[in-house]
Amino acid sequence: MNLVLMGLPGAGKGTQAAEIVDKYGIPHISTGDMFRAAIKEGTELGLKAKSFMDAGNLVPDDVTIGIVKARLRKDDCQSGFLLDGFPRTVAQAEALENILSDMDRSIDFVLNIDVDKEQLMERLTGRRICKQCGATYHAIFNPPENDGVCDKCGGELYQREDDNEETVKTRLEVNIEQSKPLLTFYDQKGYLRNIDGNQGIKKVFIDIDQLLGGLK
Ligand SMILES: [Zn+2]
Repeated sequence: MNLVLMGLPGAGKGTQAAEIVDKYGIPHISTGDMFRAAIKEGTELGLKAKSFMDAGNLVPDDVTIGIVKARLRKDDCQSGFLLDGFPRTVAQAEALENILSDMDRSIDFVLNIDVDKEQLMERLTGRRICKQCGATYHAIFNPPENDGVCDKCGGELYQREDDNEETVKTRLEVNIEQSKPLLTFYDQKGYLRNIDGNQGIKKVFIDIDQLLGGLK
């Protein structure tokens, strides 16, 4: 079961990834984890990636692709994988096609958790954090008992600068534009499956599960 997971910030990718991994026993390969592991192992590519990251630069494609390639060749990927955060661009998607075809494999599905922009705005701007203990709340989905006050320690809740309406809106729009060519690429390949992410978390996974159940 070879899967790529896509979705805008706030679409609930992390939650669904955990459910998929739990049920199907394939490794969740997120870009961040993959880089951290390669750096920890001290592989040549890992060290290269680290040098770019330490300098505050983006890791170039050839390094990223090399790390993905090494990761997918590990034993735990034999029965499949769930890629998350890679590919980000059509060039990376093409590189992934080559990596997999060299291994006589191919992507089964690209799962795109599709959530309306308005709904994403609501989810992303509602986050509140405790100044004292760092506990997180959500104005709509997980509100504290008393408005603006932490249930755990009584600290004051605040909204991060990153979570304000304008910042979130810009971030979403940038993400939407960047993901468009990738979605088109995978649609043309026939891999793309849009999952209605406007539903509750459980229902979203039921839909994913139904789709994946057909693979075995
Ligand atoms: Zn607190």
